[in-house]
Amino acid sequence: MPTTTKRAGSLLLCAILALSVVSAPQQPAAPIVIRAARLLEVDTGNLLEPGEVLVEGERIRAVGTAVDHPQGARIIDLGDATLLPGMVDAHVHLFLHPGAEDMQTIEESVPWRTILAEQAAKADLMAGFTAERDMGTEGAGSASTAVRDAINQGIIPGPRLRVSANAIDILGGHEDANRFNPAQHVLSNADYANDAEQIIEVMREQHKEGADFAKVYETGADRMIDGVLHTPYQYTEEQLAAAVEEAHRLGMVVGVHAQGEPGTHYAAEAGVASIDHATQLSDETMRLMKEKGIFAVPTFTIFDYFAHHTSSATEAASEGALLDYKIAEFKKQVAAGIPFAVGSDVGPFPHGTQAHELTLMVRFGMKPLAVLQADMINGAKLLGWARQMGELKPGYYADVIAVPGNPLDDISVVEHVRFVMKNGEVVRQE
Ligand SMILES: [Zn+2]
Repeated sequence: MPTTTKRAGSLLLCAILALSVVSAPQQPAAPIVIRAARLLEVDTGNLLEPGEVLVEGERIRAVGTAVDHPQGARIIDLGDATLLPGMVDAHVHLFLHPGAEDMQTIEESVPWRTILAEQAAKADLMAGFTAERDMGTEGAGSASTAVRDAINQGIIPGPRLRVSANAIDILGGHEDANRFNPAQHVLSNADYANDAEQIIEVMREQHKEGADFAKVYETGADRMIDGVLHTPYQYTEEQLAAAVEEAHRLGMVVGVHAQGEPGTHYAAEAGVASIDHATQLSDETMRLMKEKGIFAVPTFTIFDYFAHHTSSATEAASEGALLDYKIAEFKKQVAAGIPFAVGSDVGPFPHGTQAHELTLMVRFGMKPLAVLQADMINGAKLLGWARQMGELKPGYYADVIAVPGNPLDDISVVEHVRFVMKNGEVVRQE
């Protein structure tokens, strides 16, 4: 390279550096007032008409029918809409996309899957999900920590994330690559752990790589026999208790994939934070979940999707039977008053469409306000952001969405989000 060009280049670099030095510290962004015909207080179910939110920086400063309009504030009037806190999806797979789930994790490289995960994170955010729990990269290891960190640093758009890295599973277990040509040594989509000692070792490795919590496969494979779900457990109660104890030592929690008994009971006894899928819960398991505040995360959308996207009539019949069974069990769980969080298991079906989970939970027996509380307030607790997000209150993160109509009359309006603010920044406005 000729010297003059080089010198011009370094001068330019100096100028850029100088500019950035001069512009720091940055002026704080002007306050924002968001206004709409309605605002839902998620804890009480009160509707404010109209509703206004004053946002300063990344936090909500005031909420009411008429808040202060500081001088120079930007006013965003969304008209006939309802303001809500950003939604929480407590069960996502940013590293999965529609298509053969097992083959994509074998055929696609981790760098490629990470690029797709960025796109997935953006799609979820634009659909109104401002916080998510990634329940396993399924073979991409701790790549999810990079997506989380890039979002936190403002490099890419996406929800606030809690990530598990890979999930934990037994050899030959529910998430292992079973029955491939043994000579090919096809790897599991999860990290192997066969006893308590190995679970602890894997959790320490995942913690070292930046995981926020541990995801454990507790049951599977699932079979419907005479209209009842049968699913073997993978870890004993003592092994799960060891996982929970290690998680607490690390300041983490454990979330399990557990569809039925006795695995769901072992998980409840061990004191996990959530039982995901939670199709079959005995009376004793439900009693423990209520007592200990363990969330059930039903993930109806994935069951509904699989029941309607099958390759054969036999598959359609068995997926349909499982969904019907799940709906009947869910009605008992709602009647028993166990705590719920909302998670869709998005990934195998398209990212950005998962607000359908709230619609399904209402369709199958919960009240709209109860579903919104499960999603936002319980979701915030489960993700470790209690009293930081999940409600529109002064001091909370400014994660605000707007939906058309009134979600208490028709919950499906949450599938048509038209405005999204995360951390005080408008990321979508129609
Ligand atoms: Zn999942």
